[in-house]
Amino acid sequence: MKPMLAMAGACALLTLATADAAQMNEAQPAPSHEVLLAPWTGPYGGVPPFDKAKVADFQPALEAGMAQQLAEIDRIASDPAAPTFENTIAAMERTGRALDRAINIYGVYSSTMNDDAVQAVEREMAPKLAAFSDQITQNAKLFDRIAKVYDVREKSDLTPEQQRLTWVYYTNFVRAGAKLDAKAKERLSAINQELASLYTKFGQNVLKDENEQFVTVDSAADLAGLPQGVRDGMAEAAEARGMKGKWVVANTRSSVEPLLTYADKRDLREKVWRMFVNRGDGGGTTDNNATITQILQLRAERAKLLGYATHAHWRLENTMAKTPERAMELMEAVWPPAVARVHEEVADMQKIADTERAGIKIEPWDYRYYAEKVRKAKYDLDETQITPYMQLENLREGMFYMAQQLMGFSFKPVDAAQVPVYHPDVRVWEVNDPQGKLVGLWYFDPYARKGKRSGAWMNAYRNQERFDGEVKTIVSNNSNFVKGKPGEPVLISWEDATTLFHEFGHALHGLSSNVSYPSVSGTSVARDFVEFPSQVLEHWLSTPEILNRYALHYQTGKPIPRELVAKIEAAEKFNEGFKTVEFLSSALIDMKLHLAGDQKIDPDKFERETLSALGMPAEIVMRHRTPQFNHVFSGDGYSAGYYSYLWSDTLTADAWEAFTEAGGPWDKAVAKRLKDNVLSVGNTVDPADAYRAFRGRDPGIAALMRKRGFPVPKETTAGK
Ligand SMILES: [Zn+2]
Repeated sequence: MKPMLAMAGACALLTLATADAAQMNEAQPAPSHEVLLAPWTGPYGGVPPFDKAKVADFQPALEAGMAQQLAEIDRIASDPAAPTFENTIAAMERTGRALDRAINIYGVYSSTMNDDAVQAVEREMAPKLAAFSDQITQNAKLFDRIAKVYDVREKSDLTPEQQRLTWVYYTNFVRAGAKLDAKAKERLSAINQELASLYTKFGQNVLKDENEQFVTVDSAADLAGLPQGVRDGMAEAAEARGMKGKWVVANTRSSVEPLLTYADKRDLREKVWRMFVNRGDGGGTTDNNATITQILQLRAERAKLLGYATHAHWRLENTMAKTPERAMELMEAVWPPAVARVHEEVADMQKIADTERAGIKIEPWDYRYYAEKVRKAKYDLDETQITPYMQLENLREGMFYMAQQLMGFSFKPVDAAQVPVYHPDVRVWEVNDPQGKLVGLWYFDPYARKGKRSGAWMNAYRNQERFDGEVKTIVSNNSNFVKGKPGEPVLISWEDATTLFHEFGHALHGLSSNVSYPSVSGTSVARDFVEFPSQVLEHWLSTPEILNRYALHYQTGKPIPRELVAKIEAAEKFNEGFKTVEFLSSALIDMKLHLAGDQKIDPDKFERETLSALGMPAEIVMRHRTPQFNHVFSGDGYSAGYYSYLWSDTLTADAWEAFTEAGGPWDKAVAKRLKDNVLSVGNTVDPADAYRAFRGRDPGIAALMRKRGFPVPKETTAGK
């Protein structure tokens, strides 16, 4: 369910005494944590007070915020007036604003500035926040009011959005156990608190392995094959660890993947690969296996308590797929052609290794390295030809161009003195519509650093809403590019550039929001729908308009040559077997773990046996092995939900064809249909209806298979 914490509303009662404040002498100034709860001040309708945030204030702020929201909710629950949408649902939207503000800043620290002090707060607060969330959904008087509004929602004078919001509240409460008896509620809350602690432990263990493990290279000779930019990043990483003159491979995806792609030294590749795929699986204090077993058992028990067959059935109920069976059906349709493609890819790679008389059999630490060689042989294309044109800052400008062309958004940098940031690497832009009206703010935090979780993501510091007056959204994009030498342009891989566009797609989804209520705003949509806007916008990276204008050589400033673009296009479906199997093996393990039900699961054994039964190619490892699968085990978010990326990609592929069938990627009419029916509506519309309104029909699997270069099943027609 959507976390109750996000179900916030503006609070007119910010001066409410907190437990701490009550003990204060009147002459003393307000406690410093109040700044985290107070309405945001400054330009743009207020901005997060990152300059005043102190880790020591997080816990008292969160506790005061929770107490405040419970008091607000108590007033709604005990309102003597008969329940109406306005005094119950809209009133709920107004609660918890102060807590929301504190949680947003705490969340930024938790994901990007995580140190021992933040981790201590996480361990303390995770179960308390879970219990707090249950206290709201288990409030019988409150649920009774919500149910009464829900029962008559279609007969009342409510707008479609208000009806949908009422449905969202009602189903969220029911799915969180609002209808259970007191004893079951008590057990449910105990489970949720225990899970919250286990999720925190899981995530902290992975982060610890990523922060503390690394491979040191002593001799420059061992760097053979690595491009200069990768070497520079490794030298910086060594220096940061007090080993000037050496080179370090950090245990993060952005450091590991370039090494696996280019390093000639095979035993170095193997060493780095083993470090990376064994995060959370080292057998020591950071080993996650026992934690996973506990999480799976508690999730299975919780699902039963709530009346569902398995955790997967519970999780998928309010997604677009609706059932695990439908999600499995899609995954199983794509798996065999993907595996078949991997066997072809491996055969191509083995041929090159044999020609080179390498005397090896392709192993997982060889895949990226030999795939590069195959690409060069087949398409006369290798990543090092592309990278010099992939300057981070230029590509960012390219994304702005895309947003301008498709949505009419323009981006203007914000003076650093005007808007505080939490780290000097963070920059802020204001976003305006074609009439020059403010749309929102975009924060950009591009570089890797210690304490920042790996990968890339978007989050909203504030959702767009207008039911109590216009509120503009604030969104952020985060990634982990290696910073390199000061003053030099940051060059990124094609894959990283794709991810950059992907996350920006999430940001544009948030920025396009045009709804009344914050709980159904922006990216607050079904998990298997939310990746659709982000994935579809990845496509614009490879358009000539973006590449010719923004893919400029970092030394000559010349645009990427036409022949090179043609080669990139020709190689578009290259290595799709690897990419699909790497992803899908993770998605299948996730779903099968959560369909396995109430049994004691040994994650290592389950992973091994399930992959073997699936016919997992020996040359590939899951993109996220179970002991490091943060999507699935550091929260409920993507649990039984990693399939969402594939589900969304069926929509993505089909939607892209809507552009290519019309006037091409920049077709204004199709872009408008996408914005009006998908990007701007949040969760005010059922996702299947939203898609149908955009496309004029339901999506089919055919476009997905074409996109990945797999055979299109016969019974599949374009529209079905
Ligand atoms: Zn995404």
